[in-house]
Amino acid sequence: MLCTLLGILTTGLAGALVGVTMEMHDSLTWVDHSSQVLRSANRVVSTLREAESGQRGFILTQNPEFAESVERALGSARREAATLARLTADNPTQNTRARQIETLVGERIAILQASARLTGNGSFVAARDFVATGRGLMLMQLVDGKIGDLVLDERDLAATRMDKVERLLRVILWLAAVGTPLTLLFLVMMARSLIRRIRQPAGAMIEVMGQLGAGERKARITGDMGSSEFSQLAQGYNAMADELELALADQVKAHDNLEAANDALSHNAQTLRERGEVIEILGGMAHRMQAARTDEELAAIIRVFVPRVLPHIPGALYVHNNSRNLLVATATWGGLELAQGNFAPEECWALRRGQSHFVDEPGSDIVCPHVGSQTDHYHCEPLLAGGEVIGVLYLKGTIDTENRFRLAVLSENIASALVNHRLQRGLREQTIRDPLTGLFNRRYLEETLSLEIARASRSGAPLSLVMCDVDHFKRFNDEFGHDAGDQVLQTVAAELRRRFRDGDVVCRFGGEEFVIIAPATDATVLQARVEEVREAISLVTVRQGGRTLGSVTMSFGVATWSDGMDREGAMLVKTADAALYAAKRNGRNRVVVDATALAA
Ligand code: GH3
Ligand code: MG
Ligand code: MG
Repeated sequence: MLCTLLGILTTGLAGALVGVTMEMHDSLTWVDHSSQVLRSANRVVSTLREAESGQRGFILTQNPEFAESVERALGSARREAATLARLTADNPTQNTRARQIETLVGERIAILQASARLTGNGSFVAARDFVATGRGLMLMQLVDGKIGDLVLDERDLAATRMDKVERLLRVILWLAAVGTPLTLLFLVMMARSLIRRIRQPAGAMIEVMGQLGAGERKARITGDMGSSEFSQLAQGYNAMADELELALADQVKAHDNLEAANDALSHNAQTLRERGEVIEILGGMAHRMQAARTDEELAAIIRVFVPRVLPHIPGALYVHNNSRNLLVATATWGGLELAQGNFAPEECWALRRGQSHFVDEPGSDIVCPHVGSQTDHYHCEPLLAGGEVIGVLYLKGTIDTENRFRLAVLSENIASALVNHRLQRGLREQTIRDPLTGLFNRRYLEETLSLEIARASRSGAPLSLVMCDVDHFKRFNDEFGHDAGDQVLQTVAAELRRRFRDGDVVCRFGGEEFVIIAPATDATVLQARVEEVREAISLVTVRQGGRTLGSVTMSFGVATWSDGMDREGAMLVKTADAALYAAKRNGRNRVVVDATALAA
């Protein structure tokens, strides 16, 4: 705005000055023109006067030099009159006068030339008379009058033109006097406004830059910048600050990610180290479990190693019993007191679903009935091997993420150890059991007998042996078939196992003959029990399917080990067999005790 005003002002001033100056130049030209006209008019009169005085001198002196000066003056007068007419061509009034003056001058020249010719011819009188006519004087007066009018008008014109020049000069002076300070004022105002317009946005920008430098990442240039250039500058700066903020945010994020990755890495390294230790412990545990021979040994290993793998978490191992209708606690650790020593499979949700079941905060999941009152935090991990549920690990506590890994490996190890153990036990059972009756076989009898003889000889405790045989067994086979015979053997075997003590080892010796090892029992005590057994068997009615096969009796021979006998037991068996033979011979369905045994 100010710029525009200043532009208009200076242009106006310059235009006015140029206009006035040109006008003044014109006026001055006209003033000069007027002075030329005046000079020319004066010269017309003066040259005429010069010619007249020359003519007078020529007439008086007849000196031809005057004649020459007259001629020169007349020439000049004629040229000046012509010049005057030419100079006044622009002004019709003055031009008319000038032309009249030119004519009058022509006439006056003609008279003077005629007078001069007369004088030249020596006719001085005629010449004087010619002058005395007064025609020349009259013409001269006319010329003077005309010249006087012309000069007056021209002087007026010149005066008017000079006035104009003076006026224009005053205008120029006024323009200079007013225009210069006005221009200066505008310049100052413009400079001040310019400085203000620069200082305000520049100050705002410097302030924001300072804030950014001090760490205020959100600092931006806002508000009116006053000009598009500064607005663009502010936009550019804000865009740069945005980029910077993004870059810084990215940097912070990258730094955080790096730290997180570092933490994760060191945590992973720690986890891996711990896992390595756990795997080592589990390896040791698996190795020992492989070598375990009995369920008790297995339980002992579990009691020692599980608290090392899962510290501070008490727990128990429940394993299916043989008939798979109960889970029996085989080991506990961490001072756990069980609510139930055993429970039905339906009482555990882990067993029912075949996957982990836990309550990690009160009321977060359904509670297994076998847990009893300890319902806030517990974990049941089913032990699975080959798709079969072997048992369950019950843990009183919360299993966190890392412990899940340990628990997974642990439960897998225990499950496979239990399966192996069971498999080994099964294989061994196969080698020592008689498949038809489920009693120990003859091989087991021989192994056990030599062990028991060694023990008896060490301890001095008595060791007796019963040999028995089904009476007339062949008849059963013959009458009812071989299967019926098998049924008789199974019935008799069950009765024998039931009727003898737990510590007694009941074996099938072969065919329909059985042997019972009775450790820590002398012949007399044993005789009474064998008598009971014999009677009980004789009272049993053998059935097969829907039919009744009848009753059976058995003959028994009893012998007791003595130092004189071999340590493998062959002699003892032979002695008992002899007693059995005696029982058969004496009418069957009876007990015969070896005489030496009774005597001892
Ligand atoms: P005794 O009263 O003298 O002992 O007469 P016994 O008929 O019982 O005696 P013997 O030794 O003559 O007959 C035994 C028969 O038992 C011979 C054999 O066919 C039969 N036997 C042996 N082992 C088995 C078996 O595993 N199953 C069946 N069904 N029969 C068997
Ligand atoms: Mg027999
Ligand atoms: Mg027999």
